[in-house]
Amino acid sequence: MGVEYLTEVEAKELAGQAGIPVVETVLAHNREDAQTVADRLGYPVVIKIVSREIVHKSDAGGVKLNLETAAQVGTAYDDIMAAVADRNPDAEILGVSVQQMARPGVEVIIGMSKDADFGPVLMFGLGGIFVEVLKDVSFRIAPIARHDAKEMINEISGVALLQGYRGTEPVDLTALENLLLKVSGLVESNPDLEVMDLNPVFLYRDGAMVVDARMAVAAR
Ligand code: ADP
Ligand code: MG
Repeated sequence: MGVEYLTEVEAKELAGQAGIPVVETVLAHNREDAQTVADRLGYPVVIKIVSREIVHKSDAGGVKLNLETAAQVGTAYDDIMAAVADRNPDAEILGVSVQQMARPGVEVIIGMSKDADFGPVLMFGLGGIFVEVLKDVSFRIAPIARHDAKEMINEISGVALLQGYRGTEPVDLTALENLLLKVSGLVESNPDLEVMDLNPVFLYRDGAMVVDARMAVAAR
């Protein structure tokens, strides 16, 4: 069975409606619109390509971070469109998303995939190399309760990195548990969702923020 990707803007909207903290993200249809939205959101901002056919936006040259002025947004827009025209010439482009630039945090990922026997399975792990190289992740069949969320967090080998490590501050583990529970709720109330990838989620001393969301639904 095929899947159909939501745009990042749509995925974040769905997540936000489910009570998941997402960085403010607005679809802009052209260069001028992107600058207007950026002025309204306040700087610094991030802009990213929006296309259902471009799932890995950075690989496509489609992500520009930490833009400080409308002029920089304009240049970034031109650079993104040029890179995408070069690398993904056939992709249908819906515009760019303009986002608030989230303050840095500890990066984690939260995912969902469907298992033929068990249905939706949630995944949690630390971001970057921890997932890609070390496969340091935990899984639970959805829906989960708070004690499952606590176990998912404590099961990963790198949990010490969340608990405060050599002088770094501990992250807000209650906010992380709440986020896992909200994701579980979102999955439960949207049975059409086939895959979800919140990557990365930034964790802070106080709170958590989803900065990228990828979701797909079963194609009809
Ligand atoms: P990709 O489709 O390549 O996964 P992302 O949206 O995850 O693209 O962006 C790539 C990286 O840029 C992220 O891993 C994160 O480090 C950073 N980033 C993306 N959006 C934001 C944002 N709104 N605020 C701060 N950093 C961001
Ligand atoms: Mg990402």
